[in-house]
Amino acid sequence: MARFDDKSAIVTGASRGIGRAIALRLAREGANVVVTATTLQNAERTAAEIEKEGVRVLALAVDVSDITQAEGLIKKTVEEFSAIDILVNNAGITRDNLLIRMSQDQWDDVLSVNLKGTFNCIRAATKTFMKQRRGKIINITSVVAVIGNAGQANYCASKAGVIGLTKSVARELAARNIQVNAVAPGFIATDMTDALPEEVKENLNNTIPLGKIGSPEDVAAGVSFLASDNADYVTGQILSVDGGMAI
Ligand code: NAP
Repeated sequence: MARFDDKSAIVTGASRGIGRAIALRLAREGANVVVTATTLQNAERTAAEIEKEGVRVLALAVDVSDITQAEGLIKKTVEEFSAIDILVNNAGITRDNLLIRMSQDQWDDVLSVNLKGTFNCIRAATKTFMKQRRGKIINITSVVAVIGNAGQANYCASKAGVIGLTKSVARELAARNIQVNAVAPGFIATDMTDALPEEVKENLNNTIPLGKIGSPEDVAAGVSFLASDNADYVTGQILSVDGGMAI
């Protein structure tokens, strides 16, 4: 029997990068998966790959920064799979700029998707989790939430907020057997980091004790552990998957 047989999972922002790797990993370990992206076409790309794993999959277009759409995501998941076992809040964006040049829109957009989006999905799913008296919530934060990064004040603030949110909700939901944890990736090879200038990438590389950039699959392995029964006694924790960057 596979780890997640008969379980259902939601992965937001699963069209590419880390979210795609998480959705594929959970599917390969037996979970039925709901994959979301900003457009249906983007979500369907990953859904087509997941179908090949022999599990059920639902692709949805969801802007996580909109609470009504987050509520729709939970409603459709319960209609399709009857329950939600795992919620992975992965959707995230960057709008980098030095603070002195950062616009209100750059600040608001990043906070709306990364922090409010995570709140919205948790808020929308909480009633279902409480009724079930079980559930695993895994939020994707970042190493820069704790070490900071020049040019990413908005992003670092949003990801630090996700850590506070994770720990608070873990305390609120613990009595209902709901575990709430986060994974903090370091420098991972995806479209998000591909956009960085070569010089910045090289400088970043030099700060990684394990001496190499991480893969989306490295992050998915951490999520899989936290989503599994092996983590039943783990809550409110931040698992760094960063090659040692934040030691
Ligand atoms: P990515 O390749 O840019 O993918 C981002 C995903 O989020 C896409 O599926 C995108 O959907 C979705 N998304 C964007 N805005 C959304 C919205 N408003 N509502 C719903 N979905 C939305 O990013 P990634 O590198 O895989 O990062 C995934 C997560 O890991 C993010 O939270 C990121 O902050 C975090 N992280 C990444 C790194 C890294 O080094 N890459 C390090 C630390 C943390 P579309 O395809 O439709 O645009």
